Amino acid sequence: MARNRKTAGAIIEKDGKFLLVKRNNTKTFEGYWGLPGGNLEEGENFEDAVKREIKEEVNLDFYPVPFRKYAEDFPQFSWKATAGFFFGKTNGNVKINGESSEFGWFLPREIKKMELAFNHKKIMEDFMEQKSKKILPKIFNSKILEARKISSDIKYIKFSVPGEFEFTPGQYLSVSRISDGKKLRTPYSIASSPGKGFAEFFIRIIDVGKASSYMGNLKKGDEIELFGPAGKFVIEESSKRKDLFFISNGTGITAFLSMISSVLEEGFGKKIILLAGFRNENEILCEKRLINLGKKFPNLEIHNVLSKPENGDYADVGYVQDFLEKHLPKNFKGDFYLCGLKGMIDEIKAKLAKKGVKEERIFYEKYN
Ligand SMILES: Cc1cc2nc3c(=O)[nH]c(=O)nc-3n(C[C@H](O)[C@H](O)[C@H](O)COP(=O)(O)OP(=O)(O)OC[C@H]3O[C@@H](n4cnc5c(N)ncnc54)[C@H](O)[C@@H]3O)c2cc1C
Repeated sequence: MARNRKTAGAIIEKDGKFLLVKRNNTKTFEGYWGLPGGNLEEGENFEDAVKREIKEEVNLDFYPVPFRKYAEDFPQFSWKATAGFFFGKTNGNVKINGESSEFGWFLPREIKKMELAFNHKKIMEDFMEQKSKKILPKIFNSKILEARKISSDIKYIKFSVPGEFEFTPGQYLSVSRISDGKKLRTPYSIASSPGKGFAEFFIRIIDVGKASSYMGNLKKGDEIELFGPAGKFVIEESSKRKDLFFISNGTGITAFLSMISSVLEEGFGKKIILLAGFRNENEILCEKRLINLGKKFPNLEIHNVLSKPENGDYADVGYVQDFLEKHLPKNFKGDFYLCGLKGMIDEIKAKLAKKGVKEERIFYEKYN
């Protein structure tokens, strides 16, 4: 049986070079260079663990910005790992403890030629790619520019972002809050398009939910701490040459608003079908925006499905997953993007698998 491990690691940069350590006191990857870091202790979160590990291992004070989490299998050692990787500023001089025999600062082109421990080479490649595209996440303060309820349990929030803030449509920002003395972050998809100087969220305020109750209390003029952009749920380059089928339920449409409007404005010429599920007519999100988009771009086709419509004659009544067949064109060769609650995504994936749609044509983001 594979054991599960949780580890935290750091990407530390100085003058364009990155800090690597050569491990000497480990059964796995002995003698290999790798990124500094180590295992989480009982009850510790990734962020606290990386600060502690970096102090213990290389004697630096580390101010971590979350980069990404990786889940990886290492069958050769019979373990699976979830690794939280961070980057950020450091303070002090490097001094290694007994776990490593050497440390060094390496240029990205040198790292490219090295064989690193674990999956650290891939992590460095991902980091360098995001850095070159200027889409590395940041922690920044933002001011709420507008906040209002747009239906009985959906709240709209418009907030400032720094002038240089860039993201790829489909990505999210995490909102920080302090709970029991600990910082917690909750992700929300960015509904607006890039380059506007502000961004927008549509948030379902769930009665029992702690994050949504915090979001529910925010008002115009409040300041929040945000982290991002983050996430890999974006329209793939290869999809941009194909017809696209988007399926969402509830606030899952939020990510699609940004993705669909941006790709259409960029000149996407193939067909886009959007199948969106909501509870009733009052909960249909951004209907006007989408209708206007549909008028401007006739290659966009929109179908809303309502589970509990107020109008008894509503056309598509039920759950969105039950209307896939109705709206999916025969011999559809394009890609599928799914966003929203897990139950819907799992059902659609199962239906598509039955139809012989290969996994590489399905991209999804689960909100729960
Ligand atoms: C990448 C990503 C992007 C997200 N973007 C959005 C967004 O744009 N808008 C948004 O409202 N939420 C979004 N979510 C969900 C959000 O992060 C929180 O999970 C949600 O606000 C509930 O948090 P909570 O602490 O209030 O409640 P919790 O105690 O965490 O959850 C309470 C219950 O609500 C369910 N739930 C979680 N999210 C939703 C939802 N959106 N609709 C209905 N039920 C839900 C959970 O499964 C759980 O049963 C996103 C999640 C992810 C992972």
